[in-house]
Amino acid sequence: MTYTPHGKHLIAGEQVAGEAHFPSSPAHGPAHEFAVGTPDLVDRACKAAEEAFWTFGTSSREDRAQFLEKIADEIDARGDAITEIGSQESGLPEARLVGERGRTTGQLRLFASHIRKGEYLDLRHDPALPDRQPAPRPELRMIQRPIGPVAVFGASNFPLAFSVGGGDTAAALAAGCPVVVKGHSAHPGTGELVGDAITAAAKACGLHPGVFSLIQGGKRDVGEALVTHPLIKAVGFTGSLVGGRALFDLCAARPEPIPFFGELGSVNPMFILPAALGARGASIAQGWAASLTMGAGQFCTNPGIAVLLDGPEAEGFAATAKAALQDVGPQTMLTDGMAEAYRAGRDRVAAIAGVEALLTTTSEQRNATPYLYETTGAVWLENHVLGEEVFGPLGLIVRARDKDQMLEIAHALQGQLTCTLHLDAGDTALGQRLMPVLERKAGRILANGFPTGVEVADSMVHGGPYPASTNFGATSVGTLSIRRFLRPVCYQNMPDALVPQA
Ligand code: NAP
Repeated sequence: MTYTPHGKHLIAGEQVAGEAHFPSSPAHGPAHEFAVGTPDLVDRACKAAEEAFWTFGTSSREDRAQFLEKIADEIDARGDAITEIGSQESGLPEARLVGERGRTTGQLRLFASHIRKGEYLDLRHDPALPDRQPAPRPELRMIQRPIGPVAVFGASNFPLAFSVGGGDTAAALAAGCPVVVKGHSAHPGTGELVGDAITAAAKACGLHPGVFSLIQGGKRDVGEALVTHPLIKAVGFTGSLVGGRALFDLCAARPEPIPFFGELGSVNPMFILPAALGARGASIAQGWAASLTMGAGQFCTNPGIAVLLDGPEAEGFAATAKAALQDVGPQTMLTDGMAEAYRAGRDRVAAIAGVEALLTTTSEQRNATPYLYETTGAVWLENHVLGEEVFGPLGLIVRARDKDQMLEIAHALQGQLTCTLHLDAGDTALGQRLMPVLERKAGRILANGFPTGVEVADSMVHGGPYPASTNFGATSVGTLSIRRFLRPVCYQNMPDALVPQA
């Protein structure tokens, strides 16, 4: 049965109507009306979150684990409706939405089992040394404590896994922090359904309703009011560099600055080393084309740049990549604005002298078709704009003059979510020269693979030096992401009865 959204905000367990409304703009299917958020509603949600913190912040790990599992169950219970409206709003295929839902509920369940184990608290204990000379040592115990209400902004390209019930929300709730989500205006109906699932789970678990609120967007002042609200203690953001930077600056300018964990864009360069290029350049080119066009290239881990050594093998690589990309038809983008931004990005790249177009297909309205360009290492090094993300299926081949120039390109990269090395046994020495540089550039370095597809696991790092993220000591994917919403507190000589029962 088709789901019709109620179109209201969800504030501390209540559906709250708004005076103004904005329409959704689905890729297909009916549009719906949603209440526009206001700073007053943000204030109401933040106050409820602060109230909830006094009980939720001291809840047991087992209680929070059950809450996370219940959210996963409630999302699954709404699965078909989520898939239907998610696909309409985002234009993503239903199979992708089903997969992303599995990732989202899997993430919630993984975090539940992770906090049950307790290791994330990083408990430390220095016993008292009353007889130590020249001065006795007091007993010291350190525990990671939740920081307070957290604001979450999701991205348009992951309406489930990086949105209302996505990684940031799961991590904050796991840590013991109530969450206020600013809904993304590209998928308000999907967000509403997931918000309903979290609200239902909070009720079923008997939690303070302020533990979760969803304010729909529609106007930029909602996000601004949220990050500047004095009761908000940290922000989890996934989205564009421009939006993220604007909100980051607001967080830094507050009377009490707060951490802003922004996961932004990246060009995810691949370095194709000579032996690998010679032995299997064609299959790497085909794999690249597939990764580059997956989901219309709308992944933060999309590998936009391939760096290789100039020569006949580079010619072959470019020809194979072009042939593979040529076969990819138009794909629907997430929003009209994104399709426009994609074409503007193409124009920025094409306008640089020394950049040659290998494939320029036509795309219009909300569609995207792949573009392929190539240039020399020297031109790339001189033009900063060629190292910036073009969100969509655009590939740039950079032909380095020699190995030293390849290294120079690695040095010139800005912060990345990922860097990839394609290498064979004969490439080890060059790989060893590149590795210390790439380690300083990216949160994840891959060998002989493609960066799209981010495993939710204990060892995953999804983040990187700015501008890949605004806080390179953190990850937004995997169990380590919970750590962002905790802070260490040391208890000195404290009686057991007063120390949190972690
Ligand atoms: P976006 O346009 O930056 O939007 C993200 C959220 O921020 C939305 O809720 C948006 O509100 C809000 N926002 C943006 N600018 C704002 C401002 N100046 N003031 C207040 N609120 C603001 O990002 P997107 O287009 O949805 O996502 C695509 C981008 O995300 C790509 O660059 C992609 O690489 C990146 N991404 C990164 C990751 C990662 O993990 N690193 C994952 C996925 C995507 P509205 O609803 O009003 O637009």
